[in-house]
Parts: sequence; structure tokens; C-alpha cells
Amino acid sequence: MIGYNCKYTPVEILACFDDYRLINNEAEHFDYSSQAMHSNVCSHIKAICEEIHRGDYDKLVFMNCCDSTRRLFDVAESKIKYKTILDLPIDNGACAVKRLKNDLLFLIKDLEAQTGKAFDAKEFLHNFSDKPIAFPNSKFILVLGANANGSLMNVIREAFQIPVINMTCSNNRCVSNENMSENDSLDELMEKYARALMAQTPCMRMSDTTSRKQLLNNENLAGIVYHTIKFCDYYCFEYTKLADSKTPILKIETDYTAQQLGQLSTRLEAFCETLNTENNAKIKMNKNGKYYAGIDSGSTSTELVIFDENKNIVKAVMVRTGANAQAGAQKALDEAQIGLDEIKTITATGYGRKNIDFANDDVTEITCHARGARFLYPEARYIIDIGGQDSKFITLDENGNVASFVMNDKCAAGTGRFLENMAKALEISMEQMANDGLKYSEDISISNMCTVFAESEVISLISENKKIADIIHGLNKSVAIKTKALASKALGADGVMMTGGVANNKGVVTELEKQLNTKIFISDKPEFCGAIGAGLFAVDSDR
Ligand code: SF4
Ligand code: SF4
Repeated sequence: MIGYNCKYTPVEILACFDDYRLINNEAEHFDYSSQAMHSNVCSHIKAICEEIHRGDYDKLVFMNCCDSTRRLFDVAESKIKYKTILDLPIDNGACAVKRLKNDLLFLIKDLEAQTGKAFDAKEFLHNFSDKPIAFPNSKFILVLGANANGSLMNVIREAFQIPVINMTCSNNRCVSNENMSENDSLDELMEKYARALMAQTPCMRMSDTTSRKQLLNNENLAGIVYHTIKFCDYYCFEYTKLADSKTPILKIETDYTAQQLGQLSTRLEAFCETLNTENNAKIKMNKNGKYYAGIDSGSTSTELVIFDENKNIVKAVMVRTGANAQAGAQKALDEAQIGLDEIKTITATGYGRKNIDFANDDVTEITCHARGARFLYPEARYIIDIGGQDSKFITLDENGNVASFVMNDKCAAGTGRFLENMAKALEISMEQMANDGLKYSEDISISNMCTVFAESEVISLISENKKIADIIHGLNKSVAIKTKALASKALGADGVMMTGGVANNKGVVTELEKQLNTKIFISDKPEFCGAIGAGLFAVDSDR
């Protein structure tokens, strides 16, 4: 089996000699590649390295794409019988085409020597099977950026109700054998082939990307999902340019592991909700009910808010989520002493929103927070939400709709979990943690944001006899600095609101106000913002 890495690879030649496959799967781990390659190589290349290491390929034909590809080619293992890297031009000028033609002729000779098979022009011409890229006549989503493989595309497609076109890196190959004939000399044939390879929609490695930019002019383009991978310059550069365009765009960064894909669905669904392209399917209701419920099912706590038909809050309860989302939601209903038969419709939000059987509908926490924030604070333009496990920053437009959002759900730094762990290290309650930070006398700084390292730093400060209030202040400041990086748009702005459990921590709020140089509005129900938004959607679904 021949493995290849790029849409410019001459696969129609490879097919004359052996089976071939784009090496494109996500990795389960990076055990081998972390040893074999430098840590700043992109994880797409590390995933390819792992796949090669599993031993499915005995030949490799690479195109010389970037530094990471060249490093991979260098370390590709000795059990590979044949490997070559072709020098991919950056344009389709006459010189570039000639150079590529010569490489193709060398490749044919090499493969003939390796396999003992002779190149057959007729077979070669039969190997062309690419179909022109068909853009729909209705609204669609374009996926651009670094290579998005089948698993990632499945997650993206599941999030949208409209067609999704994958134009990332190697996934839009379109090479035609037009004008080629088996009567051409090998030299002529390879020159035409080199030209056809280079005539594809250019990727970001190419010097002239004009026809790539034209993709954005399609009147049916509803939005762009932009896939980036850490340490990839080509696609980082393009995203920076596109972020200023008028087309709505969502950036997703992956590390090419399957484990990470689940985390993306909330971002994708929230983006879909902002595009307003969803089917407005009728939601089933309990006709005899008189209330409407919003449930925010988080990993730590579940909030339930019950509304009457006039959008008055009848009850609001918060419980520990416990074993699972369903059990947490039931516990909240029990605590509110409201039976399912009294509720007309329930909208769920939060991480567990898909796992509550009795919810009639679900909406992402991004959209629900926006809705809830405007209900609690009609002037809200910027929402900083710091919950137990994640933090998010949402910008609203003048009508209260989500204009953009960013989320940190990858690490505990700057979240409620970080403060909980630090309270444990200090052996104090969360109430003390929330209040004592304001009583500091020494302005201590905690330099580590990682929970593990920050805990060691806190223990060192305790052993240096630093006052608890001063250490808490240092921790509050570090949460505020981390949050500022997420919420930089709110710097000096009006209409800034904070929600989530951490909004009850006066020390963090004070430090964040200093960092952002603005006053932050905190409602009397900061933890209930998402559930309130969900409840309002439930009421509206009956209109
Ligand atoms: S960026 Fe371009 S050259 Fe590099 S692998 Fe993708 S399609 Fe090939
Ligand atoms: S993701 Fe970027 S750095 Fe990695 S192989 Fe592709 S082009 Fe190169």
C-alpha cells in the first residue's frame, strides 16, 4: 500500500503500481511521534507519523508541503520499502510545470524499478476519477483550513442542518485528464498531467490564491468553519485574513485526536444557531401543563428555572448534577416540587442537554446565556461566564443576538474548578475563598495558571508564612488575567456582565474590573443565566 499526504500527489500514477491511500486518520495517542519528532511539529503530521508506524504502508509518496512534512519524511521508518518526496511548486507557471513533470518522470521510473511493473498510459488515463466540486443552490457551510478528515467532518455535518462542503487542505482534489491522450509521448503526457495537478483550487501553500478567495463570493455561503492546527503557519495566516471578512466564521482548533472531537459540538451548534439556518420544527408539548422550564445541565451543577406564561420566574433551584444529566435534572424538579405533568415544555442547555429524556428541545449554552443575560440586564453587550469547568466570552449585537463567542473548555485554568482546587490546598471553604481575597495587604502574584503547578506554588507560599488573604488575592488576580485574555474586546467597554458561579466571588470580580478597566454587572442570579435563557426559549416555543 502506498501512503500519500496531499491533493497534489500524482495518485493516478500511483494507481498504476499499487493500492494507495491518503494518510488522514486522527491519532489515539502520540507516543511514537513524540519521541521521533520535535514537539513543535503540527499534530496532523504527528498523526500521520503514528499511522505509518502502525505498519499499513510499505511505500510513501509525499509532496514537499511544509517543514513538518519534511521532518516526517526524514523520520519515516526503515520498514518502509520505498519513500520519495516530490518537490511541489508554488505556482503553475511554465518553469514550475516543467520541474514537476521531471519529478513525475522520475517517480514512474522509481516505481517501475520497485514493483517490476511497466507504466501503462492507457491504464493511467483510466485512473482519473475526481468529480468537479458541486456547490449547492441553497445555503451551505464551507469548511476551510488545515486538513479535516472524515471523523471531524461527521461532527461538523451533524451540527448543521444545511449542506457542508469540505475545502480543507487535501480534501477538494479535482484533477482532470482533459486534453490527455494515450497517443501522447510520455513526456507530453506528464507535462499535461503536471499542469492539471497545478490547476486545482490552490491551497495556502501556493503563491497565487486568487481563485481560492473567490470561494467566498458564493451568494449561498452561510458561514465558514475554519479548522486550524497548532504550529501550522499556512492556515493560521489565512484565518487571520478571513476573520475580518463579512462572512460569519467559526475557528476550531484540533490536535488530530478522536478524544477532542466531542468537545467541538457545542461550538459548532452555537455557531449554527447564530446563522439562523435551523429547521423550525414544531416542538411537542404537554397541553395540560401551565409552566415552562429551562434546565442548564452542567458537569458540576444543574440549574432549573420555571416560568409562567408571562415570563415571570416562578422557581429557580440549583442541585449537584451527580451521576448523570438525567438524574441531575430529575433531582432539580424534585427539589422544585414541580411534576412533569405541570410543565408544558422544557428546553435543556449545557453539556448534558442532549441526555435529558424528558426535555422537549435543546439549545446551546452560548445562545441561552445570551438570552438570559439580556433578560437580567437589558444593556448587556459582553458576557463573561465562568462556570465550574469552562469559561466563555460572548459578544452580543445591538438586538441581543450572539455576534461572536470564544470558549475555554480545554483546561481548568481560570475556571471554578481551579479555585475549588486552590481552596482545598489552602484548606478553606469556597465562601472564605470568595470573600477573603478583598482583605489582602500584600500584592502577591501567582505565576502558574496550570492547576497542578499553581497548587505547588500555593503550598510554597504557605510554607513562606504568607497570609491566606494575600494568597487568595494572588489567585484571584491570576484568574482575572486569564479571563482578560479571553475577553479582551470588553476592555474599557460598557454593558459588561459576568455570569456563572465565579461571579459570586467578589475578589475575582474586583480584579477582573481592574484588568478590564470597566464596571461589571452581576445579577442576583449569576448561576441561573443559562437556565433562564433556556426557559425563555421554552415559553417562546409555545407562541
Ligand atoms: S497545504 Fe497544500 S501542499 Fe500542503 S498538504 Fe495541503 S494541499 Fe498539499
Ligand atoms: S497542518 Fe499545516 S503544518 Fe501541518 S502538515 Fe498541514 S500545512 Fe503542514
